[in-house]
Formats: sequence, structure tokens, C-alpha cells
Amino acid sequence: MSNEKTIKEEDGIKAIAAALKAGGTLLNVACPNCNYPLIKIDEKIYCKICNQEVYIYRDESDLPKEYKQALKQKTKINSEDTEVEKTIKGKIEDLRKKLEKSVDTDEIVKLSEAIDKLSQTLKKMKEE
Ligand SMILES: [Zn+2]
Repeated sequence: MSNEKTIKEEDGIKAIAAALKAGGTLLNVACPNCNYPLIKIDEKIYCKICNQEVYIYRDESDLPKEYKQALKQKTKINSEDTEVEKTIKGKIEDLRKKLEKSVDTDEIVKLSEAIDKLSQTLKKMKEE
């Protein structure tokens, strides 16, 4: 595991927390690249870990022409959420581990918020 990747992930988690705080919505869809949950902001969907916009579609015919052409990343929504649930659970555990070690107040607040949001999302998924 390279240090570079770890730093990038931590930045991404912070960015997710910030985006949620700013009114972004956590989606029950994971990024095809990094498996972190995607965030919806102003009708656009982003992966804060990869730091790029992600297009979600059920079928390619759902997409406007220019989106098809610009399509860089593909995420298909499939009926089973179990993989996403597993991913979120894993991320909650990762965040919890970071929280245990953290001594920085700001970071503790951000991690707690992120864990709370992820837990809520997980709960909603199970209720559906
Ligand atoms: Zn990603």
C-alpha cells in the first residue's frame, strides 16, 4: 500500500463529509473505480475519492447524446444492493478505526458526521 493512495483516500473522505455538510446526498451506489459511495450535488453525481463526475444510468438510451460521447465512467444501478451495503459497512469500519486513532477535534467531528451519514444511508437501504 503506497502512502500516496492513503493520503488521497483521507482527502476523499474529508471531501465526502464536506459535500454532505454542504447539502450533497449520499447515494446507494458505489464508485466503479474505488467503491466509495457516490455523492449527488445539484443533480450531478461525483466521486469525491476519484475527484470526478460519474454518470449513472440504467440503460444507455437514458443518456443524452453528449453524455454518451463524454462518458468516461460507467455505473449501472443493479437491483441487488448487497455489494453496496457491504462496501458502506466496510467504509464505516474504516472511518471508525480512524476515529479511534484521531486526536484532532476537527477530524473527529468530520469522521463522526461521515459515520452518522453512512449509518443513516445503510438504515434507509434496509428499510426499503
Ligand atoms: Zn471513485
